[in-house]
Amino acid sequence: MEEEGFEAVFIGSGAGLPMFMGIPGENANGVFSANEYLTRSNLMKAFDDNYDTPIVAGKKVAVVGGGNVAMDAARTALRLGAEVHIVYRRSEAELPARVEEVHHAKEEGVIFDLLTNPKEILVDDNGYVKGMKVIKMELGEPDASGRRRPVEIPGSEYEIELDTVVMSLGTSPNPLISSTTKGLEVNRRKCIVAEEENGQTSKEGVYAGGDAVTGAATVILAMGAGKAGAKGIDEYLNK
Ligand SMILES: Cc1cc2nc3c(=O)[nH]c(=O)nc-3n(C[C@H](O)[C@H](O)[C@H](O)COP(=O)(O)OP(=O)(O)OC[C@H]3O[C@@H](n4cnc5c(N)ncnc54)[C@H](O)[C@@H]3O)c2cc1C
Repeated sequence: MEEEGFEAVFIGSGAGLPMFMGIPGENANGVFSANEYLTRSNLMKAFDDNYDTPIVAGKKVAVVGGGNVAMDAARTALRLGAEVHIVYRRSEAELPARVEEVHHAKEEGVIFDLLTNPKEILVDDNGYVKGMKVIKMELGEPDASGRRRPVEIPGSEYEIELDTVVMSLGTSPNPLISSTTKGLEVNRRKCIVAEEENGQTSKEGVYAGGDAVTGAATVILAMGAGKAGAKGIDEYLNK
């Protein structure tokens, strides 16, 4: 960075890399990450006929996952005219979304297929989604997160017909910056390691904050980290 005349840098590159399940059929046409689906619809106005942004306005959509972003994607798909199923591997009590979000999704007509986990996305001859093979789950002993671990019920697989699948399994920081920057420490989730009070990373003059440090979190935490980073950089430059 010195070569370009910068004395300090703040990295606020977020956690925009979506996770996928790694199951067969996941790269078929009609499979989206929730972030892509929401970006196309909301930011790129795919819902509006005056815009060219393509989106699959599916008739039957499965949103895989149970967080707030899954609820956003499910309600977006509903408003695009689809029958929408949330497919979540634990029970309602373990849904990570806020209770209000779940309530609103149900109120609007989203169907919850709980204790159900995808095994394979079924693809037609032209490479488009035609369904999903799922398996019923039951809850076993608590895992490291303290939540009861979902366990497959052998032989309970069944197929559902679908034309769109939205994967909403969380996101992680894009590893581009950390993998190309020598001496920038990251943790095992690829989040940049930075001091909470001033954003200082393991590399001198480099500060970081927001989702890139915490993993997917909230706007208010990212704003706080921005302020802490600004203070840290100010102190560093005035040393
Ligand atoms: C669908 C969805 C709904 C959400 N709803 C809420 C909510 O209701 N309330 C709430 O508090 N939070 C919500 N969040 C979380 C919130 O959006 C994030 O916690 C917050 O935006 C994090 O801010 P940030 O500045 O760290 O990263 P971001 O807002 O993700 O900004 C990072 C920016 O860096 C850019 N970038 C990435 N890599 C590079 C690079 N190499 N070079 C240059 N630029 C780069 C990205 O394009 C992006 O513009 C939601 C998130 C999602 C995905």
